[in-house]
Amino acid sequence: MSIRVCTRVGCGAEYAWDPKPGRPPRYCEACRAEIARPKRQVAPTTPRPVTVLPEQRPTTTSATLEAVQAKLTAAGRTDTVPGAVALRLAALLDAGGHSASGYAALARQLTASVEEACRGASLAGDPLAAIRDRRSRGA
Ligand SMILES: [Zn+2]
Repeated sequence: MSIRVCTRVGCGAEYAWDPKPGRPPRYCEACRAEIARPKRQVAPTTPRPVTVLPEQRPTTTSATLEAVQAKLTAAGRTDTVPGAVALRLAALLDAGGHSASGYAALARQLTASVEEACRGASLAGDPLAAIRDRRSRGA
């Protein structure tokens, strides 16, 4: 029987050790029990996946303007007053930053302007419109 001192940091308790083959334990009974007992698992702190939200920016697209431009060009009405108005409205729509009702009003006026600009024009890019146009002229 020999007296050993627990080498665990902060303990230093003396404990009896019965010399026997093998290495003497480094810690006292209490420390050995504590070390052997698996610590209660703290909930793993796996970071939750971060959801990256799309950047909230006013959409700067030119889709409307391009579509209107294409339609007016096909009808050959880009340089008419309603055509110019339609282009301006399309640019405004594309610029964004409108309220829903403002957007709706712009879209309504744009549609009307495009229709007015293209009225009677033979739309090369729109065969259906060309047919409608021919019919309306009684051809
Ligand atoms: Zn100890």
